[in-house]
Amino acid sequence: MSQSAVEVIRAKRDRRALTDEQIDWVVAAYTRGDVADEQMSALAMAILLNGMDRREISRWTDAMIGSGIRMSFPPESVGGRPTTDKHSTGGVGDKITLPLAPLVAACGAAVPQLSGRGLGHTGGTLDKLESIPGWRATLTRDEMLAQLADVGAVVCAASDDLAPADKKLYALRDVTGTVEAIPLIASSIMSKKIAEGTGALVLDVKVGSGAFMKDLDSARELARTMVALGSDHDVRTVALLTDMTTPLGLTAGNALEVRESVEVLAGGGPPDVVELTLLLAREMLAGAGITDVDPADRLADGSAMDAWRRMIAAQGGDPDATLPTARETSVVPAPADGVLAGLDAYAVGMAAWRLGAGRARKEDPVQAGAGVEMHAKPGAAVRGGEPLFTLHSDDTDRFAGAEEVLAEAVVIVPEGDRPDLPGLVLDRVAE
Ligand code: URA
Repeated sequence: MSQSAVEVIRAKRDRRALTDEQIDWVVAAYTRGDVADEQMSALAMAILLNGMDRREISRWTDAMIGSGIRMSFPPESVGGRPTTDKHSTGGVGDKITLPLAPLVAACGAAVPQLSGRGLGHTGGTLDKLESIPGWRATLTRDEMLAQLADVGAVVCAASDDLAPADKKLYALRDVTGTVEAIPLIASSIMSKKIAEGTGALVLDVKVGSGAFMKDLDSARELARTMVALGSDHDVRTVALLTDMTTPLGLTAGNALEVRESVEVLAGGGPPDVVELTLLLAREMLAGAGITDVDPADRLADGSAMDAWRRMIAAQGGDPDATLPTARETSVVPAPADGVLAGLDAYAVGMAAWRLGAGRARKEDPVQAGAGVEMHAKPGAAVRGGEPLFTLHSDDTDRFAGAEEVLAEAVVIVPEGDRPDLPGLVLDRVAE
């Protein structure tokens, strides 16, 4: 049936559900350039304002998957391992993929993770891994298969033919104030994860100042929408809603986060990073049907570290290389004695970005060594004048901007007023 873009826009503007034919047509026609950017902008805004029902979102996701290739990794193609993956909606200091992928591989699953670069105040997994000398993000499908069978974990860049409709639409949403539409976020994330070919998926939906979703209700709605999409596409999917009012771990910045991840793999590291890594590993393994291995044992016995080293080496990286460090550092002292009651994730993310760890446009370079090192987490006692942050950057003129935003990030209360801090996991969503 032939369609007109204006009819599709009018239908959603007037709060009508789009038909399957309308959705298939508009996504395909936009991808090939037959629907103009201004028409898709109007439709995206109508979707943001008027929403879509479960059938529409599922069909929209199908259409985005259908715009490109769909990969699959049957166990016989990857050494008998069942596939499972994790996706985080993005947060500050969120380096969990780095210890998690090799840990889950060490437990017998295959993790085929296609990942992205950072934009704005949240870091990207590929930027972090690219701080390891020699490591490369681009693999052929045959290299991916061989690495999955041998090591059990691949973290690499998605090729251009994976959900190309999403690449085009996401760039348009970014400049038209329509990123926040839950049906469009859910279909964007899930089209890529379903096309990636994983059999099971755990979503880490971040909630708080450092996340996309600032409040629990909208995070829960996004999680439910994505879990439903997973079920509709035969991917066993669960979501954890996790706190992102404060950064994860004690570092935000590419090489700094790699160093912290290696500490976790070596049996140390900050307790929140260890806790979330183990929780997500258990969920990923349960989704893959592996219930007889405790990931804590694999972390303790060194097999997760071994998988990490092999994963990095398989992609050209040297796991023994010294990580890059920034040319300059600057220590920011605590402004008063007391208990750290708040350390705002968004502000720390902005500070890391201002120091050079992130990019404003996708073609910008990042500084591998730049970022923020935190010396205390909420709940800890601090002393005025003692180091609270160490800033890392190649350019000393970046320190002032980072210090300015961090000054707003810190809340210190008297010893007697210990704050009530949120737990790491706020909710779990499954169908
Ligand atoms: N991440 C994505 O991949 N897509 C969105 O729409 C939002 C976050």
